[in-house]
Amino acid sequence: MLDAMPEGHTIHRAARLQGRALAGRRVAVASPQGRFAEGAAVLDGRRLERIDAVGKHLLYRFEGAPALHVHLGLFGRFLLHEGEAPPTASPQTRLALAADAEGEGQARRPAVTLRCSGPTACELLPEPEEAALRARLGPDPLDPTAGPEGFAAALARRRAGIGQALLDQRAVAGVGNVYRAEALFLTGLHPDQPAPTLRDDDVEALWATLRELLRAGERQGRIVTIAAADRTRPPSRLRRDEALYVYRREGLPCRRCGTVVRAWPLGGRRIFACPGCQPPRPTG
Ligand SMILES: [Zn+2]
Repeated sequence: MLDAMPEGHTIHRAARLQGRALAGRRVAVASPQGRFAEGAAVLDGRRLERIDAVGKHLLYRFEGAPALHVHLGLFGRFLLHEGEAPPTASPQTRLALAADAEGEGQARRPAVTLRCSGPTACELLPEPEEAALRARLGPDPLDPTAGPEGFAAALARRRAGIGQALLDQRAVAGVGNVYRAEALFLTGLHPDQPAPTLRDDDVEALWATLRELLRAGERQGRIVTIAAADRTRPPSRLRRDEALYVYRREGLPCRRCGTVVRAWPLGGRRIFACPGCQPPRPTG
């Protein structure tokens, strides 16, 4: 499917769910496909302390070892299986984590298998390289300690339109093609408006909107941007084509003003916007 690159909410949700299943346990680590065999040997049998998400990157913290860095990219996929008898690993499985069942009664934890195939990155990341990775990334709206200041500073340094800047992970980490279109619609911003010309209140509204949308996506495991006032059913019951305002709705009437939604290439992907709700603004 086109535009299937996971956005930050998917990665943060994966960190939460995988962490719930595996954190605190001794984990068998393997690379059935072989390309991560050396790294897997370093981690095999160690205790997994926790899993952190930073933008679209995952960092698995094992006791006494460098972090395991995974970036799914466009084709990477996870399979998390709880209980005995997981499905057989495919020959494409780059990374396999497994923990045996343990504990009794309420404290019992089932056997867990986590597999990852097709990631862009699956590597050990020593501390200096992790610091370098973090330094390359803009603030992550799902990081509770991040605020709009870093985002504003990054936008002020870019010449590109705001729609292009939102896909630049150095400006903001974790935003992908769906959220950029929807957040610009919800804040009434034209995607081609040069990022440095955004007013402070626009930057703050955009940051708040991104944070709210990504948080909802993390909870729900899907992207629903339609506000309560614009929908007739609870978010969980919306069909895919009812859940968004403008993304992939080119040629259709805007849900708010009826103007035909437009699409054009911007930053290597297609942007979708409503000319009525997101008019170009005079910039001074
Ligand atoms: Zn509109």
